[in-house]
Amino acid sequence: MAYMIHVARMMELAGAPADAAAASARTVMEIETALAEASMPRTERRDPYKVYHRLERKGLEKAAPRFDWNAYFKGLGHPGIEKINVAVPEFFAGFDQVLGTRGLADLKTYMRWQLVNSSAPALPEAFVQEDFAFRSSQLTGEEKILPRWKRCVAAVDGALGEALARPYVAETFGEQGKAVAKDLVGGIEGAFHSTLEGLEWMDEPTREQALEKLKKIENKIGYPEKWRSYDKLKVVKTSYLENRLAAARFESERDLHKIGRPLDRTEWYMSPPTVNAYYNALMNEMVFPAGILQSPFFAPNASTAANAGAIGMVMGHELTHGFDDKGRLFDADGNLRDWWTPAVSAAYTEKAQCVVEQYAGYTVLGEHLNGNLTLGENIADIGGLQTAWNAFAKRVPEANAPKDGGFTEGQQFFLSFAQSWCANRRDEYARMLVTVDPHSPPQYRVIGSVSNVPAFQEAFSCQTGSPMAPAKRCIVW
Ligand SMILES: [Zn+2]
Repeated sequence: MAYMIHVARMMELAGAPADAAAASARTVMEIETALAEASMPRTERRDPYKVYHRLERKGLEKAAPRFDWNAYFKGLGHPGIEKINVAVPEFFAGFDQVLGTRGLADLKTYMRWQLVNSSAPALPEAFVQEDFAFRSSQLTGEEKILPRWKRCVAAVDGALGEALARPYVAETFGEQGKAVAKDLVGGIEGAFHSTLEGLEWMDEPTREQALEKLKKIENKIGYPEKWRSYDKLKVVKTSYLENRLAAARFESERDLHKIGRPLDRTEWYMSPPTVNAYYNALMNEMVFPAGILQSPFFAPNASTAANAGAIGMVMGHELTHGFDDKGRLFDADGNLRDWWTPAVSAAYTEKAQCVVEQYAGYTVLGEHLNGNLTLGENIADIGGLQTAWNAFAKRVPEANAPKDGGFTEGQQFFLSFAQSWCANRRDEYARMLVTVDPHSPPQYRVIGSVSNVPAFQEAFSCQTGSPMAPAKRCIVW
């Protein structure tokens, strides 16, 4: 199969004779298959309770007794670690079995492959080409490798994100942008507040907690208040590979250094140039890097409808993550704690099930979407669009008033939303994402959301029962 041929080729490039390289590929495949079988499926891993196991040091040693944990933690520079939360204990049992059934030579082969594979982009041209040939033909469908400068920028963003960000935000993101974006987030929070107050299926004790959670959400906009230091990362002019390895070590040591220290609430988990945003349930915060606060999502001088439909929806989406099927399991302070009364929790689950079934009905290249894997993102898309609309309608009460020879304000809102998700994917890539991506493909992020937001039907005068104005809607928030 393609993967084993690829591993063999890479091992050959790394210096193994052809027959040994082919044998290595079989070993790698067997070990990876065993580890994959011991892993928890993606959809299950979305459940925070299923990936929370305080085994501590003793439990970990029991789960994988063949591994020398003392040597491992000592090697990490943290010999005394005792408090350990293991996401998937069964994985460690599977890992221990691999240790028990494979000889040292096989384990070395597996480790050598991990190193060669992860370093491929920084190895000589033949490795870069083989790595690209495999990924493009099997996974992404790309016809040409990205130009060198783009690969370089991505590498710098990955290793030195906040250093790259300083000139980036100076050039692209002014104080005006920050002020307008802050004002938009405020509008979104206000709209969600009204939604919470009016929900019929929510009882008072749960509502009180939900409002508390909403009130405590922190927002980070554009770039961090204080910049990270990269002083201890050594960058050389002679070796890209050395720089990559040094950056990986630097990052890993920085993470390990956090053990036993108070949580740094100012930290950013995405670099400011990133065109993305996130909600972090453990900190109850929303983060909007400067990268997404650009056209086509946002411009300080764009029309209210254009900003509201694009970045407004993104803001509503991140906010709704705090209340999606996973986010709702965390409280206002980011603790995993059930703050829902049983009846309200049951009502929520029923509404969420409607979303699961709706999206499972959509197909890409004949494959059905996984309604459970994409549930959190779909709830956030639907809630995000509805919340953005509510905030917009407060600002522009006459949104559906006819405009001479043009789209109404309301229509512009939805057009801006749909255009911000324009995408073009090759079949290979689309097929891969259907199995791994918790987001629905862009066309369904648009179609699925507008189908569940009644204002869309009104804005475009759709007949009830037409494809994007169904008689039965899935509305959670
Ligand atoms: Zn999301």
